[in-house]
Parts: sequence; C-alpha cells; structure tokens
Amino acid sequence: MSRVWNFSAGPAALPPAVLERAQRELLDWNGSGASVMEQSHRGKRFIAMAAQAEADLRALMEVPADYAVLFLQGGATQHFAQIPMNLAGPDDSADYIVSGHWSAKAASEAGAYVRVNVAASSAADDYLKLPPRDSWRLDPRAAYVHYTPNETIHGVEFHDVPDVGDAVPLVADLSSNILSGPLDVSRFGLIYAGAQKNIGPSGLVVMIIRRDLLQRAGRPMARIFRYAEHAAADSMLNTPNTWGWYLAGLTFQWLLEQGGVAAMADLNRAKAGLLYGAIDGSDGYYRNPVDPAARSRMNVRFDLHDTALDAAFLQESEAAGLLALKGHKALGGMRASLYNAVPLAAVEALVEFMGDFARRHG
Ligand SMILES: *Cc1c(COP(=O)(O)O)cnc(C)c1O
Repeated sequence: MSRVWNFSAGPAALPPAVLERAQRELLDWNGSGASVMEQSHRGKRFIAMAAQAEADLRALMEVPADYAVLFLQGGATQHFAQIPMNLAGPDDSADYIVSGHWSAKAASEAGAYVRVNVAASSAADDYLKLPPRDSWRLDPRAAYVHYTPNETIHGVEFHDVPDVGDAVPLVADLSSNILSGPLDVSRFGLIYAGAQKNIGPSGLVVMIIRRDLLQRAGRPMARIFRYAEHAAADSMLNTPNTWGWYLAGLTFQWLLEQGGVAAMADLNRAKAGLLYGAIDGSDGYYRNPVDPAARSRMNVRFDLHDTALDAAFLQESEAAGLLALKGHKALGGMRASLYNAVPLAAVEALVEFMGDFARRHG
C-alpha cells in the first residue's frame, strides 16, 4: 500500500491515524459487534460518542456556553439558503462581504430569502485582495453580516476577525479554515463549516450558533429547516450523518492529541511559509498572484510562468506521488490545499519537486 501526499481542495486529506482507527473499528465498533454505520443513532453508544465529539469540539474552539453546537447535513451550500431563512424575515436585509467564489455564491443563494446588500466586494480586483474594512458599507439594521474568512478557490484569507460592532451578528462560512488556528467564537453570531476540508467526510456540516439567534422569528417553514428544532433535538431531529459525525469526533480527538488549534496554527504557518517562500524565491518561474497580506494559509494558488508547462507539471507531480495540484477550473493554474491533515513533509516534498521541475524544464 502506498499513500500519496494529498493536496486536494475538498473532499480532502484526513489524518492517517484517524483512518487507521476507523479501519480497526469498522467491523466491531466500541464492543458492539457492528460498525458505527449499522446502528441506531438513538442507542446509548452513539449518543455517548456524539456528546464526546461535541465536548471535544467545544474544548478545541473554547466555545462559550451560550452557543449551541449542531451537526447538520446539506453541505455549506444548503446553509447559504437556510441561514437567511432562520436569521431574517422576508422583509429584512442582510449584509454580504463578497471576497471570492464562495461568498459570491452565498450572497446569490441568500437572495431568495432576504434582501442582500453587498456591503463590499473585491470582484473588480479579481478577488486577488480583500475589500478593505473601511470600504464596507454596513447597514446598522441588517439582520446579520456574512463573510467567508477563507476563500478556498481564490486563495485569499482574512487573518483577523473584522470588527462589525456588537449590534449586528457576524456570520462566517469557515468551511475551509475551521480549526486551523485559534478563533474567538464570541465574536460571531453563527459559524458554519462543511466537514470535507478540515474535519471529516462530506455530508456533514458543523454549526456553532449563539443561542439567542435560535429564537429569531424568521418565517413559517418546515421544522427540518429550523435550527432551533435541531438544537432542541441535539441534532437528532431526524437520522444524522452518523458516519460523518463519528469521523469528525475522531478528528477532534486527533487534534487534541496534536496540541489543539494552537499547534495547528504553528504547523499551518510553517507549511504556508515554506510554499510561498519557494514560489516567491523561484525568480518568477512560479507566481502567486494574491496580495501578500491576504494570502491563504490553507489554499495556495500558483501559476507556472508558461501555461504550456501545466500539463507536464500535473503529470509529473502525480507520478511523484503529489495528488490533486490542479487549480480550480475557473482560474486554471495550480492550487495546493494545506489543511490540518497535510503534514509538513508533504509540503517539503512539493517544494523539492517544484525546484526539480524548474531545473529540468528550464
Ligand atoms: C467547499 C466550500 C463550500 C461548499 O461546500 P459544500 O459542502 O459542497 O456545499 C462552501 N464554502 C466554502 C468556503 C467552501 O470551501
């Protein structure tokens, strides 16, 4: 068996220790004689596992007691629509900061349920930088402010939580950088993340929501769309993604063993620093087009100086055991995603390959 270095943007690399443990436990989970996927989410084993996963996530992110933690489905995309359904009435407006593909999509999906005010956008800069905070035209009556701290496709990241005051709740799509470093949860009204980048398999969404926001009137809708109902039912209003929840729990345990989010922040800074350093030090052979102040630690874009070399780069990198470096089809070029489960050795191997490729292809 051989494992590659996996730079996939999502679904993405998982820690080998997590996969090995899941493999060991697959046929006989927790002394039950069956896999975790084959048993009731109402059973005491599953309920204990689910509670432990929540407790571990709360410990990792220091989630304050007045926040609910939910394990939902539908991907981040479903919540682009469900968030305005829950947090805003049909006549309300909400502020959106558009800094790349995903925040643009969040704003566009929300438009069916709330009046969307694009309070700031970096579209005119091709999303190569962040809209400066002093350019945001926030509405003090907005139901909430939505932004995307890390743009997975465009490779731009907010390195600080923007100050939007205390009156309007801040909502953040943390799909691609949750748990990548410390975060002050109390600054947010709602955090959500699709699991398949930094937590576990796809099909699971982790949400952290301040409990007072569960009481917002919103609008008439089916119970299954109401976050308050999911919170009241401990995320077991209907059958949850039991496998995803279990694997997320294993990842949270692994993160605690690694030293938590502070250790991840150090590791992620080292990995991104190494790769950006190699790109910047390549005399223009490789280029990252993003404003250095906005560069993502999680998703590193780079272009070769000559696109005619792209096919060879992809073919040779794959042959060298470096998986999924092709950039998003909307942008071309390359992208290396460096989530928590990607070790420093993977980036060292990539940087070595890049240097070697440049020497061989001139
Ligand atoms: C991947 C991604 C999404 C989309 O997630 P789905 O689970 O496929 O809906 C949304 N936002 C961000 C920031 C992402 O990286």
